[in-house]
Amino acid sequence: MPEAKNNVKGTRDILPNETGGFIRIESVLRTIASLYSYHELRTPVLEYSDVFARGVGEGSDIVRKEMYTFLDKGERSVTMRPEFTAGIIRSVIQNKLYATNELPLKIFYSGPAFRYERPQLGRYRQFTQFGVESVGHNSVLNDFEVISMAYSMLYSLGLTSVKVKINSLGDNETRTKYREALKGYFLPHLDNMCPDCKQRYEINPLRILDCKVPEDHVLAIGAPKINDFLSETSKERFEALKSALDDAAIPYEVDDQLVRGLDYYSEVVFEFDYTSLKGKNYGALGGGGHYSNLMKELGGPDLPGVGFSFGIERLYDVLKDDELIKEDDDTLDIYMMPLGNEVRLYALEIANKLRLAGYSVDYCFDDVKLGNMFKRASKKRAKFAVIIGENEYNNHKLVVKDLAKEEQNEIEEDNIVCYFDAIFNQECKCKCSDDYCTDEQCK
Ligand code: AMP
Repeated sequence: MPEAKNNVKGTRDILPNETGGFIRIESVLRTIASLYSYHELRTPVLEYSDVFARGVGEGSDIVRKEMYTFLDKGERSVTMRPEFTAGIIRSVIQNKLYATNELPLKIFYSGPAFRYERPQLGRYRQFTQFGVESVGHNSVLNDFEVISMAYSMLYSLGLTSVKVKINSLGDNETRTKYREALKGYFLPHLDNMCPDCKQRYEINPLRILDCKVPEDHVLAIGAPKINDFLSETSKERFEALKSALDDAAIPYEVDDQLVRGLDYYSEVVFEFDYTSLKGKNYGALGGGGHYSNLMKELGGPDLPGVGFSFGIERLYDVLKDDELIKEDDDTLDIYMMPLGNEVRLYALEIANKLRLAGYSVDYCFDDVKLGNMFKRASKKRAKFAVIIGENEYNNHKLVVKDLAKEEQNEIEEDNIVCYFDAIFNQECKCKCSDDYCTDEQCK
């Protein structure tokens, strides 16, 4: 026998008893994004590699070592998106969405992203992101709206004590001065720093502050703080944001170590941190920030943007730990129980009739005893059982059992949909003049 294969290292199967939870999370996020007037943009998983090299930045860990990049058969270098923002902005520019819509252009996205990272708790090589981009308006209130939307998304999922960490990376002038200060600070230690940091020193010394190597991390804690370099304009902008967050009673803390791993950010950056009731921290649930140069960098007009992204796997894991999501929230309306081979096809026809009327119906394919069928119905959390034996088949009368109330009724086959319509309070679709029917026109 051939050896069974496992999934690719760092990937995760989302099993049928988990998908309901994933869909629920996404549905809450989508609903709130729509309430803020955001619309979905779907970009391809594959982009030309240059989009990320120029967008995310050559200095970022993502571009330097985490991208799934390959040459296609036409010798073009393509990359499976490691994040969405660069691809979204590429599409906004290519389709001139900034020219044909009122600004800010409000976009949300959802789908898989790929990074060749070391797999660990909350860190996969394929993961799912949901995020937004608000493009084309520089108002600090736009930054505020995006942060408060992210906060209310987490709150609506039941995460009411999320820590919002914010920092300002300032404008271009701020970062130029800060970069010089960091270089001055790290230079005497450079020989003892990790090889990655040596490269970071040359390409973008801000990235050194992200380093997880313990010795470099300690060094980074003592580094100059960007807050001391903020230009007057950036300072005012950051103060205005904090004051809006205070007014909205959104709890936050300023974290001067927060620089985020993507090169395109400027001004405010933020992250949402949460430790589940079980004490597990899967890493930031999401994060984002303001960006000024990305559109220009990708060949578009000089417009700013602000956005964030959540990791759906991390959201699912904390919500499950905190019992805010059940493994399987699904129930079944009706479980069909055919008794004997003669009635199997007939029972399937009834099942299909009920499905066409909008009821979820499962069907027992095995020739097992009635008691066993009830156990199966209970495991599937079915609300009703429809039992069909030879008598029922011959008389065109079906036995319907309410599994919660333990009550049983005999229903004419022709009235079965109508019967359930009455029970589930659905508008009746037939003209049956039956007692069960709730549709006044029927009577
Ligand atoms: P980033 O694009 O790095 O700002 O990440 C935004 C969010 O995506 C993070 O806060 C995580 O929730 C999620 N995320 C990023 N990388 C991974 C990963 N390797 N595995 C799982 N989730 C991730």
